[in-house]
Amino acid sequence: MMPNVSEIFGSMVFNETVMRQRLPKDVYKAMQKTISDGKRLDIGLANVIANTMKDWAVEHGATHYTHWFQPMTGITAEKHDSFISPSVDGNVIMEFSGKELVQGEPDASSFPSGGLRATFEARGYTAWDPTSYAFIKNNTLCIPTAFCSYGGEALDKKTPLLRSMEAINKQALRVLKLFGNERVTSVKTTVGPEQEYFLVEREMFDKRPDLVYTGRTLFGAMPPKGQEMDDHYFGTIKTRVKGFMAELDEELWKLGILAKTEHNEVAPAQHELAPIFTTTNIATDHNQLTMELMQRIAKKHGLVCLLHEKPFEGVNGSGKHNNWSLSTNEGTNLLEPGDTPHENAQFLTFICAVLKAVDDYQDLLRVSVASAGNDHRLGANEAPPAIISMFLGEELTEILESLENNENYDAKEKSLLKVGVHVLPRFAKDATDRNRTSPFAFTGNKFEFRSLGSTASISGPNVVLNTAVAESLKAFADELENAEDFSTALHELIRRTVKDHKKIIFNGNGYGDEWVKEAEKRGLLNLKTTPECLPCYISEKNRKLFAEHKIYTETELNSRYEIKLESYSKTINIEALTMIDMVNKDILPAISAFTGNLAAALNEKKAACEAFDCAYEEDCIAELSALAADIHTKTYDLKKTLGDIDKNADVLKTAEYYCNKIIPKMQVLREAVDSAEQLTERNMWPYPSYGDLMFGVK
Ligand code: ADP
Ligand code: MG
Repeated sequence: MMPNVSEIFGSMVFNETVMRQRLPKDVYKAMQKTISDGKRLDIGLANVIANTMKDWAVEHGATHYTHWFQPMTGITAEKHDSFISPSVDGNVIMEFSGKELVQGEPDASSFPSGGLRATFEARGYTAWDPTSYAFIKNNTLCIPTAFCSYGGEALDKKTPLLRSMEAINKQALRVLKLFGNERVTSVKTTVGPEQEYFLVEREMFDKRPDLVYTGRTLFGAMPPKGQEMDDHYFGTIKTRVKGFMAELDEELWKLGILAKTEHNEVAPAQHELAPIFTTTNIATDHNQLTMELMQRIAKKHGLVCLLHEKPFEGVNGSGKHNNWSLSTNEGTNLLEPGDTPHENAQFLTFICAVLKAVDDYQDLLRVSVASAGNDHRLGANEAPPAIISMFLGEELTEILESLENNENYDAKEKSLLKVGVHVLPRFAKDATDRNRTSPFAFTGNKFEFRSLGSTASISGPNVVLNTAVAESLKAFADELENAEDFSTALHELIRRTVKDHKKIIFNGNGYGDEWVKEAEKRGLLNLKTTPECLPCYISEKNRKLFAEHKIYTETELNSRYEIKLESYSKTINIEALTMIDMVNKDILPAISAFTGNLAAALNEKKAACEAFDCAYEEDCIAELSALAADIHTKTYDLKKTLGDIDKNADVLKTAEYYCNKIIPKMQVLREAVDSAEQLTERNMWPYPSYGDLMFGVK
């Protein structure tokens, strides 16, 4: 039965409407103030809210509550407590206090904390984030929270995100004031993350240790058909998949998540979900929930949802497009070109702030999307290159250039474009030749950061983006606030910004080799791997940025640097061990058994008649025997190289070792195994093939 969407939408969320209906008026008002201005709630009010929340949750079937948080694992964490409390008559009552709402104490000792664990007490606490609504999932009231150590150091992905939103709010308000916008009281960044994923049969998934342990295939020869026919992209959605998508939408809607578009992606078995954008903090929570629900609901349909950036070699991997903009509390999108000279001056100022930010912090943007999984995509001509550049479209670029050079933009009218005096020439908002190869593209009224991997939380990239743009806006405000004549100063500022930062603008094909050369000439960074880019994270310039805007303390930044590198090394270590395990326990025995069968067949044939042509059997035995020996040697070599790791090396050296020494050995081993797969009888190969996995969902 079709759900009544308007009835179910947000039905499991303690949202604005529920609060207005259920909270006493004064408490509701205080709560609104807390949400909009981050004002602290006193414990009396918190008690009332907690109790109301509990009553609402119990009515909706909840028995438990949890502080829901986002530790550095990149996924969400929860520890459930039931509402029950013993009453004097030996029964129980359902209770939930303000204190329990506001603060929790999960045992933090097993979450990654980088260096923090050494210096601080392992215990951490969770603190309610009232700007993201509580919701019910699996009969549990989930309270979105930040997760900190007792020393106040952030141990999670939410805290720095909230700090970065505060930083950009502060600086954007300063700039808006200069344009005379006195009524605006807050500026929030907005995000719509488009999520890609694969769906495979659960039965097949279970038979592949590589998928089970690492989320991606470590072996697998390409089937005769891949994505070359482009017949999957936007193709008809299979009934099973449709069923999955329908249930997913319904569950997301109940949680107030604006799931909007579902379609098939480029690779076989690849799909995408795009939500309608919302405030970054909420979009981040929602994206985590979306990924979680995708996995849970897929299982119910006998499928497994692969969120890995590169589940299959030879076809496209999965990413996440981070559509980003800035919006005032009055609902104005600051990246929307306006109709008046005044609006346009403001629009160009914000565009220039992003231009400067992306150029100055290319390195941090690259770091923010770095992971072992995403390294397979960036630069592989399927995702944006590892070089960060910005697409503005020809028209906007021309406008900026004519400003920079004081040239006539409009040849017919022979007029000089003057910021704040002239209306911008109309430019096509939704240029159809939208460049799909650019990592950072202006798409009419927002920027689309396309380098994000599919698995990772969107928090990190948005922290960097918000902070870098806050820094540009700060520099602009510092300069303009002291200007004698605002218009002249602004014009000068924009000209200078374009001149200094236009090297980051690139409207051409990001997949070509020419771009790599051109980018090098322009002095743009090309940081290909995670260990290559990570040192930038803690450079002097970037430490200063984070400290200036109070995003990360020195310790927090160091800990994040360590966690990222550690997680990179651990990922590759698990992959290498899985390969060795698969080769020794399944692959070599299968090749050997098949070769044995061939030898037996050969003998029988020869016994029947000496003159029979046995070329197939003989050649195949010879080839497979050679491959088996080669695989054996390469596996041994990989194992030995793993064993040779210097246990005392620092995190960066270790990650470099995995990158430069282990990965190449994994690659050559894979090649040999894939060759053997192509010669082995279908039924004797121990795993479902690429063809089975990619075309198997009926
Ligand atoms: P596509 O990129 O596939 O052409 P759209 O341009 O319609 O699709 O939008 C892609 C995503 O961008 C959607 O998630 C949409 O909600 C989001 N988006 C649109 N406007 C904004 C905005 N002002 N801020 C952030 N995200 C936005
Ligand atoms: Mg898009």
